[in-house]
Amino acid sequence: MKSFDNEEVLRGVDLTVNRGEVVVVIGPSGSGKSTLLRCLIGLNDITSGEVWIEDDNFTNEVPVSIAARRKMGFVFQHFNLFPNLSVLDNITLSPIKNKIQTVTEAKTIAMELLKKVKLEDKINSAVSSLSGGEKQRIAIARALALSPEIMLFDEPTSALDPETVKDILNIIKKLSDTGMTMVIVTHEMSFAKEIADKVIFMDDGQILEVNSPDKLFNRPQNQRTKDFLNKII
Ligand code: ATP
Ligand code: MG
Repeated sequence: MKSFDNEEVLRGVDLTVNRGEVVVVIGPSGSGKSTLLRCLIGLNDITSGEVWIEDDNFTNEVPVSIAARRKMGFVFQHFNLFPNLSVLDNITLSPIKNKIQTVTEAKTIAMELLKKVKLEDKINSAVSSLSGGEKQRIAIARALALSPEIMLFDEPTSALDPETVKDILNIIKKLSDTGMTMVIVTHEMSFAKEIADKVIFMDDGQILEVNSPDKLFNRPQNQRTKDFLNKII
């Protein structure tokens, strides 16, 4: 459970994400999707209950361990990059500062990742000079630099122009093809259908339906899921 002040924003949430699974979270604005992701990674503390990352758990009394935190990469809707640093520094800052990689290692890893997101020519550019789509590609590279086992995406394409959305979705799709475990909050329903192993519908702080994409989109069981899909599709 998660409350802000006395307002319960997540209630009775019980969710298992298996290794290699792609879980897509959908639901109306304010339903608690971002809060759920932020609680999973320890960016918001939980009010009660527990989160397990493999054999490591945390509660409202025991904070997320550094080891568990490092298993997770997070990609935000608004990128959350350091605008005044270069692309390279954005990717290498945390691994170097936390002594996870040497400067040379961090740079080698960053260059490999920049190739993957097709931005190797921007390595020395200031992040503030990049387009939204480029920023998000850098944000994905930065999250991958720490070799996470789980990637969490919070509406990674919502702030982007329609033509750049596809680039980012393709990168996420490729990542899923490598077997990466992922939890993705998105409003891109056709992408959700294509990529998800299971889809979660949230409303009012609760998980109201968990189903295969086929079932959830074509034969939703919960009336609120039906109403939501009717409104947006
Ligand atoms: P959206 O689709 O608009 O991103 P969401 O499903 O991600 O919505 P959340 O951002 O998780 O929704 O918010 C769930 C509820 O928690 C909302 O009622 C929101 O106002 C509240 N909330 C979120 N963050 C805070 C905060 N830091 N302090 C107080 N209330 C918050
Ligand atoms: Mg949100």
